[in-house]
Amino acid sequence: MASLRDFRLGATVFAAEAAASAAYFLTSSTVAQYALYEMFAGVALAAVLWAAYHYRPRPALPWLVFAAGIALFIVGDVLTDVYPHWTSPSPADGFYLAAYPLFALMAVMLVLSSGGYRRVGAIADGLIVTLAFAVFQWLFVMSPAMHDHGPLAGKVVLGGLYPFMDILLLGAYAGFFASPAWRTPAFGLLVLGTAMQLIGDEATGLAEPSHNVTGTWAAVPWALSYVFWGLAALHPSMRDLSRPGRSAARHVSRWRIASLAAALLTVPVGRLIADVRGQIVGVWVVAALGSALAVLVVWRLAGILRALERIRAREETARLSVEAARHQLIEQNARLLEADKLKDEFVALVSHDLRTPLTSIIGYVELALDEAGPPLDEERRGFLEVVTRSADRLLRLVDDLLLAARLQTGRLALNVEEIDLVALCEQATLEMRPRAEQKGVRLTCHAEGSSGMQGDRRRLLQLLDNLVSNGIKFTPAGGEVEIRVANRRDGATIEVLDTGIGIEPGEEERVFERFYRSPGAASAQGTGLGLFIARAVVEAHGGTIAASRRAGGGSVFRLDLPSRVATTPAPHSELVA
Ligand code: ADP
Repeated sequence: MASLRDFRLGATVFAAEAAASAAYFLTSSTVAQYALYEMFAGVALAAVLWAAYHYRPRPALPWLVFAAGIALFIVGDVLTDVYPHWTSPSPADGFYLAAYPLFALMAVMLVLSSGGYRRVGAIADGLIVTLAFAVFQWLFVMSPAMHDHGPLAGKVVLGGLYPFMDILLLGAYAGFFASPAWRTPAFGLLVLGTAMQLIGDEATGLAEPSHNVTGTWAAVPWALSYVFWGLAALHPSMRDLSRPGRSAARHVSRWRIASLAAALLTVPVGRLIADVRGQIVGVWVVAALGSALAVLVVWRLAGILRALERIRAREETARLSVEAARHQLIEQNARLLEADKLKDEFVALVSHDLRTPLTSIIGYVELALDEAGPPLDEERRGFLEVVTRSADRLLRLVDDLLLAARLQTGRLALNVEEIDLVALCEQATLEMRPRAEQKGVRLTCHAEGSSGMQGDRRRLLQLLDNLVSNGIKFTPAGGEVEIRVANRRDGATIEVLDTGIGIEPGEEERVFERFYRSPGAASAQGTGLGLFIARAVVEAHGGTIAASRRAGGGSVFRLDLPSRVATTPAPHSELVA
């Protein structure tokens, strides 16, 4: 659509020319026909000059050379119109023949400035097509004309120069396909215009190029060449024809191979046709052209094969390096898994060995603090109470580490019994209240009725402790932590809400990962195991847990627990922790 909009001017010109062409065939006045024909030519010339000025192609010279060529054609046309009885060679032929090299030069200049000449393969293909065309020109146009009985000057012009100019033009345009902009509309229109010129030359003009064909169908291809050339200049993509660009990806298409094969067949086929028609052909020229063609085609094929080999070698190297990288990845993965397993084993071992002396420390400190034992002064009692609190914390940590390590290898086994969730929440609140008060955080519990359901009391209490202590930990003084319990028909929902720092966006899932602590929590005490264990406990009950950010700030942890716990027969990997 965009290109149509850009091409509004071109489309208008085209519509006007289409209407004028109807008048060309309807009028019987030769003068009117001359005028219309020259109008097509004049429009093409004006379009090229207008585009060179308005679109500012860089460089503009190829388009000025093109305009000069069209101008020479116009002079030739006018001379033919004014002197319709001139026979070849005439001054009109001089102007026509001078224009061809300019058209060819324009195409070559565009290829040079676009960098298309670096595509040696495409240029060689253009050369091969040109040589093939030359074989036909020689066999059916040049050679017969040379053996004609006319005056030498006419023979040279008609049988030599014109066909040679057509070869030159075709050669330049075949090479033009090396341009990186060959897919643009301007390119297509330009090539179409030149093709029309060649068709006009081959079909009609060869008999007598400067013979006046105005008013006949024979003039149509030539008139069309003016139309397409003008349109090519009016299309804004004309600027791209000289713009340096990356050459298109090289690939060997079936068309390319087919055209090489066709080029090889030109000599034998041409010879055959000439023999059948009983034509005299210059054997030496045909042999030279045929040999040149064969050498070029073989050279091109060798080039294509070499390119294919290179592509294959590159693919093989890439495949090998992908394979090597894959192997490396598998090895690294195995090593990582092994390291992870060793780490878990190590943690479990150390934790286990720490637990035994810790429990005996706690036991003996309890004995020392026992009222029934020997009396203790206040200071010593205070010291021992600190030892008890620290040892308790250490024991909880060791228990978490042990459980987390074991969870890696199996599922948590539960000690399922009938429990009252509301009572459980109240107990958790009661146990945590001193800590909340110490921090200046308000801790409340809102529960609807009593909910009888199944669950592992110890594990659920541990889970609530964890969520509530996190709430207190991440809520500044003056804030609030709340537990809400709601019954559902098939279970219960517990929410632990706080007004603290909240969960970072995007971390809602990550907080449940083993050892994960958000960067904002670095200053708070913790191991990053609490939520990992919490999720394991909830999932062992057949429930779900989710974290989210609260609208007004703070976070919400929501647990959905079923009222009945499915008791599956203990698989081998199930643990009783
Ligand atoms: P820990 O609290 O020991 O760091 P957790 O597994 O309990 O480990 O929590 C993991 C991380 O989740 C915490 O480090 C913190 O970043 C985030 N988090 C947990 N609870 C809260 C909360 N109530 N408010 C804000 N962040 C929280």
